[in-house]
Amino acid sequence: MMRQYDLVERVRSYNPDTNEDLLNRAYVYAMKAHGSQTRASGDPYFTHPLEVAAILTDLKLDDATIVAALLHDTIEDTEATRAEIDRFFGPEIGALVEGLTKLKRLELVSREAKQAENLRKLLLAIADDVRVLLVKLADRLHNMRTLEFVPEASRRRIAEETLDIYAPLAGRMGMQEMREELEDLSFRTLDPQAYGVVMQRLDALADRNRNLIGEIESQLSRKFRDHGLTARVFGRRKRPFSIWTKMERKSIGFEQLSDIFGFRVIMPDLESCYRALGIVHTTWPVVPGRFKDYISTPKQNDYRSIHTTVIGPGKQRVELQIRTEDMDQIAELGIAAHAFYKDDVASPTERLKRESNAFAWLRHTIGILSESANPEEFLEHTKLELFHDQVFCFTPKGKLIALPRHANVIDFAYAVHTDVGNSAVGCKINGKFAALSSELQNGDEVEVLTSDAQSAPPSAWETLAITGKARAAIRRATRTAVRDQYAGLGRRIVERLFERTKLEYADDKLKGALPRLARASVEDVMAAVGRGEIKASDVARAMYPDYKEERVVRYGAKKTAAPATAAKSPTTPATEPHRGPFAIPISGLNSGLPVKFAPNGGAVPGDRIVGIVTPGEGITIYPIQSPALKDFEDEPERWLDVRWDVDETSPQRFPARIRVENVNEPGSLAQVATVIAEHDGNIDNISMSRRSPDFTELTIDLEVYDLKHLSAIINQLRAKTIVARVDRVNG
Ligand code: MN
Repeated sequence: MMRQYDLVERVRSYNPDTNEDLLNRAYVYAMKAHGSQTRASGDPYFTHPLEVAAILTDLKLDDATIVAALLHDTIEDTEATRAEIDRFFGPEIGALVEGLTKLKRLELVSREAKQAENLRKLLLAIADDVRVLLVKLADRLHNMRTLEFVPEASRRRIAEETLDIYAPLAGRMGMQEMREELEDLSFRTLDPQAYGVVMQRLDALADRNRNLIGEIESQLSRKFRDHGLTARVFGRRKRPFSIWTKMERKSIGFEQLSDIFGFRVIMPDLESCYRALGIVHTTWPVVPGRFKDYISTPKQNDYRSIHTTVIGPGKQRVELQIRTEDMDQIAELGIAAHAFYKDDVASPTERLKRESNAFAWLRHTIGILSESANPEEFLEHTKLELFHDQVFCFTPKGKLIALPRHANVIDFAYAVHTDVGNSAVGCKINGKFAALSSELQNGDEVEVLTSDAQSAPPSAWETLAITGKARAAIRRATRTAVRDQYAGLGRRIVERLFERTKLEYADDKLKGALPRLARASVEDVMAAVGRGEIKASDVARAMYPDYKEERVVRYGAKKTAAPATAAKSPTTPATEPHRGPFAIPISGLNSGLPVKFAPNGGAVPGDRIVGIVTPGEGITIYPIQSPALKDFEDEPERWLDVRWDVDETSPQRFPARIRVENVNEPGSLAQVATVIAEHDGNIDNISMSRRSPDFTELTIDLEVYDLKHLSAIINQLRAKTIVARVDRVNG
């Protein structure tokens, strides 16, 4: 545990005029107040406020803020009172601690009810003093750092809340370092698997590039020195959460140095920043479209820097951020870097001058806050400011539903309840009928109309919804619906066979035969029959071991007598579930010719496609990017303009081929297969060609629903450490 003396030293290192007596008294007061209380980790409770205070010394905050951090949990959790704190430490600190107490109570209030009210309180607390918010963020950061000791159930909720509210808030206040750490800690809690994958990969890439990083740093420094500039140059690893969101957003993997490392060039003054830029741009080729000058046009939260990317030493893309020491401080520490509450600030005008845009934003929010009367009106104005990446809507009963920006009514319905989403058929927004795909605006009141007749949502909704919750629910519901359809089909097939063969069918009897069919339930068996995975006759044999299969003439095999009990039916083949040539859902064909997909690759919905006519054979569908199309360039008369015409209500799989290059490690093939299976891809065929002692190249034929599905699988594969490269193959 940090000692009293250590804390004072930390503060004194940046504030020689610190009131040591005040700090010491607060330390002792808080330690006594918390007494023998312990944290979930078993540590003395007092370690928590102490660590929070330490985080704030990193931000170089004033004495009052450090003291408020030490005392932040005393009113709520101990015998301490506001009056006593006022008496011992003065009303300024008393007000800060009270503000923090309000925020803490706010967290304890049920999150379903009265959220508008809660938000208002939250902001009112901020309105008192921005330092309250700084302590609150440090408090949350320390709680996130020690989250592993908290019970599993609350862990998730806390991490979600951090990701939804506190991390964006830190970012909004320009505190990037705080934001990134909050994000990474939440990410690790919410999706440990993805976090692990990214970290593994990040470590491996960093390891591989270790020499190169030093090389780039020294080459850059040398160049600047040659031009008489003193610069501080250092490589900085990107953060797992930001890498992951980028991968998700752009469906790309990360393999290059520039995906995981950025370089920072810190110059002594503004002019040198531009000189450095000139040197960089004349020394190495510039990657177009990557240059941004946030020095001349700062971001809203006061961020200033020059960004550029060049092809640097080792032919690697090198991402550079060029800025001054001051700008760097602001970029990392944001509002805290301005230290506008430092005790020595001379005049109110001076103070105003030092206020950043970020503070101006808070001020603006507070201004609106004091003018608005009711919670809704308050939300209408302020949420745009504070939670600019969210929209807030209401149910007819006034329940507040918070959604990411650009969410639509489908997302809303699933946010209310999965059943509401699954049975949604229409909606009213602010009393008027609207489409379910309508994008929601702040303050919308949304009434979802449901119907019992709708058992499953249209599968197309999965691409319309933008929240993960809605998408997952839709996927689940459609999958269940498809399974039910197959089960229904399978049941008809089985029943028909039993009728014809005059055997007695009963679910109970089939239950007894489940082990023989290696299925878990009657429904599973029926669905398998419906899908053609097992034959109705297999079911019969499992239930009646004496049952002899009806021989089907079309096999041309030796004809055996039909079982004595079975009346030979002329329509025998129909009793076998067949996986006949499925209809390719394409529009733009009217020739009645047979249609097939291009061999060696196939095409999936989402691909732009063309049809190529081969006389005497039919039409072959190629994705537009297929290199095979080159062969037909001279014969425009064979090209047909075709379009997908997929029936969204009955998802169908389509062939695609990918090439995966992976490291030769035991179990690597299994890992690849697992990723594909976990993401609902069907593997049709895998062929392997050993390319080198270290790598294996696999060609995998898959069946997927569409391009998005395929990209998702490719993306997941790319995230695996054992996977070096994944490409789609277009035959
Ligand atoms: Mn606390």
